[in-house]
Amino acid sequence: MREHRGRVLALSAALFGGVGLQLLAPQILRDVIDGALAKDELNGLVHLALGYLAVGVGAQLFSAFGAWLGADIGWRVTNRLREELMDHVLRLDMGYHGDKPSGEFIERIDGDVSALSNFFSTLFISMAGGLMLGVGVLVLLWREHPCVGAVMTVFAIGCTLVLFRIRHLGESKAVEQREVSSRLFGFLEERLAGIEDIRANGAGAYIMDGFLRTNHRFFHVTRIAWILRSAIYVIALLLFVCGDILSLGLGAWFQAQGLITVGTVILMFRYTAMLRGPIEMVTRQIQDLQRAAASLQRINEMLSAKSAIVEGAGVTWSKGAPALNVSNLTFAYSPGNPVLRDVCFSIAPGKHLGLLGRTGSGKTTLTRLMSRLYDPQEGSIVLGGHDVRDARLPELRRHIGVVTQSVHIFNASVRDNLSLFDADVPDAHIRDVLEQLGLASWLAGFNKGLDTVLDGGGRGLSSGEAQLLALVRVFLLDPALVILDEPSSRLDPHTEALLQQAMRALLHDRTAIIIAHRLATVRHVDDILILHEGSVVEHGKRETLERDPNSRFAHLLKSGLEADLI
Ligand code: ATP
Ligand code: MG
Repeated sequence: MREHRGRVLALSAALFGGVGLQLLAPQILRDVIDGALAKDELNGLVHLALGYLAVGVGAQLFSAFGAWLGADIGWRVTNRLREELMDHVLRLDMGYHGDKPSGEFIERIDGDVSALSNFFSTLFISMAGGLMLGVGVLVLLWREHPCVGAVMTVFAIGCTLVLFRIRHLGESKAVEQREVSSRLFGFLEERLAGIEDIRANGAGAYIMDGFLRTNHRFFHVTRIAWILRSAIYVIALLLFVCGDILSLGLGAWFQAQGLITVGTVILMFRYTAMLRGPIEMVTRQIQDLQRAAASLQRINEMLSAKSAIVEGAGVTWSKGAPALNVSNLTFAYSPGNPVLRDVCFSIAPGKHLGLLGRTGSGKTTLTRLMSRLYDPQEGSIVLGGHDVRDARLPELRRHIGVVTQSVHIFNASVRDNLSLFDADVPDAHIRDVLEQLGLASWLAGFNKGLDTVLDGGGRGLSSGEAQLLALVRVFLLDPALVILDEPSSRLDPHTEALLQQAMRALLHDRTAIIIAHRLATVRHVDDILILHEGSVVEHGKRETLERDPNSRFAHLLKSGLEADLI
């Protein structure tokens, strides 16, 4: 908030002015009443009454201005917080992301921060304004009569103490409520993302059942949290009724004694009623405070989550294709369950490695370690003479281009999907790469060319088309190491053959790892590596292995069956 000092000062001024006018109003009212009872001159009374009205309108104007400024500051501050959280979350490692469905992140970044925004925008208005008003009222009551001042001060302090004591009521439920809420959102997000599979498998009823359970839990916790919060409110209400009785009773008795005028009784009653405002506001703030404290706790938790991937100091790679040396790589997603065991191999600069292995043998995992989505527990990956852990992450990821197995299509134009929102990539360059890959006619199929807007999640593209798009994406990046995870598994043999040619031209002068289930895809690579249950079972030059009748690769080629890999 330090950034918005000017606004905070203006807000304080608005508060001060508003409170001053509110305190002035009952004083004028007393003069009007006492004047009327004493049958004063009408003209003077009308002036006083008009003054009373003007003060009332002025107080409202100040309060509106203050509310606007408060909301403005609240949004500015929380938008910054949203930005920081989003930035932080995007940097967290895949392990952290894997643990939580993305809906949960949405609820935290938006829901929790919004809860804070309400708190910031009303905090100054009601807390500071309320406190000023409360103190002002008590001072003025003391001025009327020390006895009234004393009674009302004791009452106000008593009220505040009681409310202060019960303020923790429901706090833990508030935390639970936000947790259940984010679980509900996580549930919805995940199930909606998989709606096609759910429908196709007729799992609708099962999912509905899960939804109802989560929703029921949400309802249950919310109800209890609400009841506890309301209890605070009801107790406060009872206390204020006692305050009214006290002030009216005291006033009536003093007036009967002839100590004060009727106007002063009204004044005392008005002031006591005004005490109710600040105390009530503080109570409401306590509820908001509970919610905000819960949100703040969870936001802090998230902000303090450190990525397991520590950024390196930075390296300078020489131009040209890099060599890749992988030594003694051992990795497990969860302890005790190694997915890669002691993997060693190297690729000479500009050479291409065909990576084969059965489903689940760890091929994709191996490539994830290269771009440091995860770090290995043991061993190292040295790219172009530098350990990948020494490079800065953006540097490293610019150096490595990956076509993943499941391509994500963004709800954006074909151009943005290809250039990944990099406005600096000229259209001519995109067309050039498309031309080289023999995909110019594919682009011509879109009615608006590069400006065609694709649906998010790839609806509207066949999975083969999505794969083509991802290939273009990688070559636009101009990476030194290219990793293709089954780049053509979803293409028909004709398209694949066309693409093979083009890919060879594009892969020229780049080091590459090509993962394949189909042997045709690795027909032109230099080396072959076969993984089995996370271990290297065969590695060598493709030509040598092809000629060696005892090699797994030769056997595989002969039978032409993936199943014979092992
Ligand atoms: P495919 O040919 O089907 O693509 P793959 O060789 O690429 O298989 P990987 O994706 O590397 O296989 O998976 C290797 C093993 O690691 C599998 O047993 C899988 O269950 C496990 N695994 C993969 N991703 C994760 C993850 N994010 N968290 C935990 N375990 C994972
Ligand atoms: Mg895979």
